[in-house]
Amino acid sequence: MKLSHTPVDTIVMFNRHIFVKRDDLLHPEFSGNKARKFAYFLEHEFPGVTKLIGYGSPQANSLYSMSALAKLKGWSLDFYVDHIASHIKLKPSGNYGAALANGANIISLDSLDDRGDRDTHTYIQEVVLPNETHAIFVPEGGRCEYAEFGVSKLAEEIAQWAKDSGLEHLVVFLPSGTGTTALYLNKYYVEQEINIQVLTCAAVGGSSYLIQQFTQLADNPLYHPEIVALPKKYHFGKLYPEFYEMWKTISLTGIAFELLYDPLGWMTLEHHLSLSQGDVPILYLHQGGLLGNETMLPRYIRKYGA
Ligand SMILES: *Cc1c(COP(=O)(O)O)cnc(C)c1O
Repeated sequence: MKLSHTPVDTIVMFNRHIFVKRDDLLHPEFSGNKARKFAYFLEHEFPGVTKLIGYGSPQANSLYSMSALAKLKGWSLDFYVDHIASHIKLKPSGNYGAALANGANIISLDSLDDRGDRDTHTYIQEVVLPNETHAIFVPEGGRCEYAEFGVSKLAEEIAQWAKDSGLEHLVVFLPSGTGTTALYLNKYYVEQEINIQVLTCAAVGGSSYLIQQFTQLADNPLYHPEIVALPKKYHFGKLYPEFYEMWKTISLTGIAFELLYDPLGWMTLEHHLSLSQGDVPILYLHQGGLLGNETMLPRYIRKYGA
């Protein structure tokens, strides 16, 4: 099972060379980014633990990755969601279908009597965890300190590659959800005094929300990656014709990208390059997540045609 040391490719985009770190080539069950974030759990023993508890959207990459982690560890997985749309329940596919096939218990809060007006996180804290003595709880999207273990190894891998390639300066670009990956990458380079900057964009909730997420993981603003924003605001999970166009353009490189984070990532990188001078080498971090295309691509095709 490949869980580290992915290759770096070079592609031509926006009339220049861009390096792509191929974390999409990590074991497919862990969708790239999640293999890094869950490495701590994969590489340590947890005597007495029998269950993993998580929450998020029923189509989240993290649901599928957590189901794979639980299966590998011999744990059960209870994954809480706010609600499940009827078309997903009727025809399970993508991350949801694959997680069910891995044996995940996907629990919809709108089917429980004791929910009250609690959101998912609060419900787990107040109602679920007090009765679970053999469980590990992972917050939404794997946003927790455990993630630092694997993400700093990724940071080290990139730094070693840059050194071997004779690069004295490098910008690493990646789109963020919770910002956990971007934050721990940048923190590593600041702490190790390595000349690599991490740039990111907020795919979920906008730049100020992303700064809040960074602050939860690290108070020190010196550790926070630089956030690049586009003039227009995009909502997570919504379909936009310019996302679809960008996805088709990056697909011409021969590398398959995903449809939730990567279109915004590449559009933001293009915007950044149009504003910046000099030619600092850029490395785009491909964070996997391709299973989500199984549900996203049909939605795009229905809306905008092939
Ligand atoms: C989970 C995920 C992200 C977001 O990662 P964060 O650490 O939450 O910022 C980005 N891209 C893909 C493909 C993912 O699966």
